[in-house]
Formats: sequence, structure tokens, C-alpha cells
Amino acid sequence: MRILIAEDDSIIADGLCRSLRGSGYAVDRAANGMEADTALVSTAYDLLILDLGLPKLSGLEVLKRLRSRGSALPVLILTAMDGTEDRVRGLDLGADDYMVKPFELPELEARVRALTRRSGGAAPTVQFGPLSYDQVGRVALIDGEPLDLSARELGLLEVLLSRSGRLVSKDQLVDQLCGWGEEVSHNAIEVYVHRLRKKLEPGGVRIATVRGLGYCLEKPQENRSA
Ligand code: CA
Repeated sequence: MRILIAEDDSIIADGLCRSLRGSGYAVDRAANGMEADTALVSTAYDLLILDLGLPKLSGLEVLKRLRSRGSALPVLILTAMDGTEDRVRGLDLGADDYMVKPFELPELEARVRALTRRSGGAAPTVQFGPLSYDQVGRVALIDGEPLDLSARELGLLEVLLSRSGRLVSKDQLVDQLCGWGEEVSHNAIEVYVHRLRKKLEPGGVRIATVRGLGYCLEKPQENRSA
């Protein structure tokens, strides 16, 4: 899952960024409306967290441009306490949810989970053979037993599951797991895959390596037929 944070207040942006990266999301930051608009044109995101009071181009204008391009990207707007009018305009322009500053990070993360789940149009729980994944609580179970996964492993599993058994290239994984300025090499991706694989394999779910191309998730019965 890749999230763009458009926020000019660096303290708020830093906090959001750290918290969301810590939960395994790839996070990019834009410090003004023009940067946000450019990023939204060039990069595929799963969610936009949009401050309405942005320099260069207002948050409302960023939102208007996004929707005029036909994008259905989920948008969570951040507004000041006295910004009732802006909030209403934002929702009218197609924002999906809003939070009033100052906000609590756990509540924001809960909204992020709800919005990123809704965007996939998927059920709250994804089933893949013996593996079930609760997209709201971000908990993975194999045969009912919870898996102890790091934030990176969780992010990796989400990407593999979102492709439901189709091939995912290393470049796609780097793109989905890392924000701008975060250096993650193909070697590091191999390490994350190795660790996640070891946790999934006792339950019969495999991460197959397609040499030179990437990875795909396999259910137990596919292992046998292969
Ligand atoms: Ca601002």
C-alpha cells in the first residue's frame, strides 16, 4: 500500500510518516499543493492524506484536479479546527473522510485502514488457502493461528495477497513497500521474502520464486500440482 501525505507542517508530516511507515505502508510526502498534484499524476497511490491549507495550490484545488482526472483514489482530508466550511467543500468535492487537527495517530491509522480496505472493494477478510488476512485489524492467520509478522513482512504479504496468486516483480515490491528517499534494494526485498516465506511455509502457503521475474503466492494444492 502506497500513501501520499500532502502536508506543509513538517511536524505533523514527520509524525504521520513515521507512524505509517512503522505500520508497513510505503509513504511519500509532498510539502505543497503543486508537488502533491505532480506526484498524483505520476504515481499510483492507494490513499491520499490531504491537508487543505497547502501553499502553492490549495488542498481543495488538488482534490478538484484529482477528481477531474476521473480518479477514485480514497482521500482523507486534514482540516483546522475552525475549517468547517472547507471540510464541507472538501466532502462535496469527493473527499472520503476527514480529520480535524490536532488528531490522535491511532485514530488516523484506523481511518487509513478503513479507507484502504474500502478502495479495494474487498471483504474485510481475504482468504487464500489456509491463510486468512483481516484487512482492518491487519492480522494474518494460518489455520486460525496468528502469524507474528514485522511491519515489512506485513506490507509484503499485503502486496502478494492483493495480486491473489499472480506474479509480482521485485520492482513492483520496491514500489509498493518504499516511499521516496527510502533506499530498499532488491537484496533487501529478497531478505523480507525469505523471512515471510519461513513463516508461511509451515502452513503450506508458499512464496514461489519465478527466476528473473519475481514472486507469487501459492496455495497448498497448487504446490502439489506443480
Ligand atoms: Ca497547512
